[in-house]
Amino acid sequence: MNKRKIPSGCVERLSIYRRALLQDRCVAGPSVFSHQLAFACRLTAAQVRRDLMLIGYSGSPTSGYEVKRLLSSIGTLLDPPQLRQVAIVGMGHLGRAIAAYMANRLPKIRLSAGFDVNPDKIGATFSGVRCYPVQKMSEVIAERRIGIGILTVPSDAAQSAAEQLVHAGVTGVLNFAPVCLHIPKRVHIENIDMTVSLEKVAFFACGSQRKKGNIDDNSSTSNIDQTAP
Ligand code: NAD
Repeated sequence: MNKRKIPSGCVERLSIYRRALLQDRCVAGPSVFSHQLAFACRLTAAQVRRDLMLIGYSGSPTSGYEVKRLLSSIGTLLDPPQLRQVAIVGMGHLGRAIAAYMANRLPKIRLSAGFDVNPDKIGATFSGVRCYPVQKMSEVIAERRIGIGILTVPSDAAQSAAEQLVHAGVTGVLNFAPVCLHIPKRVHIENIDMTVSLEKVAFFACGSQRKKGNIDDNSSTSNIDQTAP
């Protein structure tokens, strides 16, 4: 199967399906129906069926999808064949929070180094991740075969830190800094920005209040109808 042909939205949803299956949120037995998985993930059954067909797995209308086989198919697509080593650049508040959260969470992904410019952090270990000076980035990345970099530096340092990562050989970047980075097309980049998401929620939450036609800026949130579309 050509992984590049799988749309990125589908890749995200497969990860969500797997989490739901592993957390037993939709499964009562050895098999699961598309509508059960869809309900657990707040999607439609048609979307679930389309995604699973894309990875070459089709269920049976009478018995659904066999959970073990489904998990194995998703794993074959999502999981790298070997352990992927990841580095965090910027071991500040967010970098350390990610290190603590990600510790042993994904079996095929390991945070194996951190980098920073602050002498107070260099040499320290945060949730099992040792922090190195940025000057050692190329050496450590090559030595540990690190292929992915997580960027958690201030915005004004993000572009040069990304370039350093690319120069050192990473092929994937997860960027948390609120800037648009220019990096070569061969490197896959994902941007995460909580502010953008919050603004989106605020926009739509405000829209649903407006639809109710009874906005009172001084009213308490308990007046908001949570079921409004
Ligand atoms: P912080 O100041 O606590 O941490 C930044 C760290 O980066 C510090 O340890 C600093 O020494 C280090 N640093 C600075 N320049 C560097 C360089 N050139 N190379 C390596 N390390 C360098 O800041 P924070 O609160 O952890 O935020 C980090 C970044 O994440 C900021 O850009 C912030 O805007 C962003 N952020 C994004 C989200 C999100 O939802 N995407 C949420 C919070 C913060």
